[in-house]
Order: sequence, then structure tokens, then C-alpha cells
Amino acid sequence: MSLLGWVTGAKPKTQPVKKTSEEIRETQKVYETKRQRKFQTAWQETFSWLVYDDEKNTVFCKVCRELETAGTFCTGNSNFKIDTIRIHDTADAHKFNVAKFNAKFMPVAQAIAAKSLVLLDKSRVGKLCTLFRTAHGMAKSGRPYTDFVWLCSLNEANGLDIGKTYRNDKAA
Ligand SMILES: [Zn+2]
Repeated sequence: MSLLGWVTGAKPKTQPVKKTSEEIRETQKVYETKRQRKFQTAWQETFSWLVYDDEKNTVFCKVCRELETAGTFCTGNSNFKIDTIRIHDTADAHKFNVAKFNAKFMPVAQAIAAKSLVLLDKSRVGKLCTLFRTAHGMAKSGRPYTDFVWLCSLNEANGLDIGKTYRNDKAA
């Protein structure tokens, strides 16, 4: 007599499994081939770059098509899967094209404003670098925080533009 009969839910190892993984895969394959995938207009709300070509029954990326000629989202993709669209949306090549596309079609005034913002940022980064070098130098030589203010003034006196912000002796 087997001990298994005494344990609730215990089954002998030899009992066949209901469906093998191979069978499950086969069922999924049949489902995938029979399933009619269609373009869903709701996708365009999420992915503004997505365009549906109803003549060819394909989708393409209006951004990438503008800048490239190769790739399934340039020539037209008939694989109506949300995952495929999502993959394209997060692809580096697509993101790069979006940046290029925006720069190319951005109104001139907006482009100038964007450029000035970049320049402004560069000068701020430069000031912060000086402040960090000062703080790092102080920490390395074991100087107290109170030295920071007069070191900043010294840097300024020596001709460095370090700005007015972050110039106090309070620890971050
Ligand atoms: Zn694209």
C-alpha cells in the first residue's frame, strides 16, 4: 500500500500532467494565427507618431519616415501588436529621430529660446564646478565650512564668475 493515500492532495509522480508545455505552446500558436489583429485608433492617442495607412493596411512612424528610409516603421509594419509599437516608441533610434524632427520643424523663435536655455545652463554648470572644486579642496585639506565663504570671495577676486547662489557656510 502506498503512503500517498494518507496525505491529502498527494499524487504519485507517474501521474500524467494535464497538458505538456509543448501542447500549451501549440494551442497558443493556433490562437495567434487565427486571431485577427487590427489597427486600433486608440493607439494614436498614446503614440502621436503612429500613422495608419489604410490602403496598405500597415502602420508607420511619421517621424522616422521623415528622416529614414529603412526599418519596418518607415516602410510600413503590418504587425498590429501593441508590444511592437511600444518597442519602437522606446527605441533609441526613434527617440533620436524625434529630437531631430523637433529641431527641424521647431519654429525659429522657439529654437532660439531653446539655444539660449542651453547656453544659460552651461554657464550655471561652470559656476557650480568652481564651487564644487572649492568645497572638495576644503574637505581634502580638512578646512572648516566657514572657510567656504572667504574662499568663494577669493575666487571671485581672482576673476572667476561663481554666481551668488550656494555661497554660504551651511553644510548641504
Ligand atoms: Zn519612429
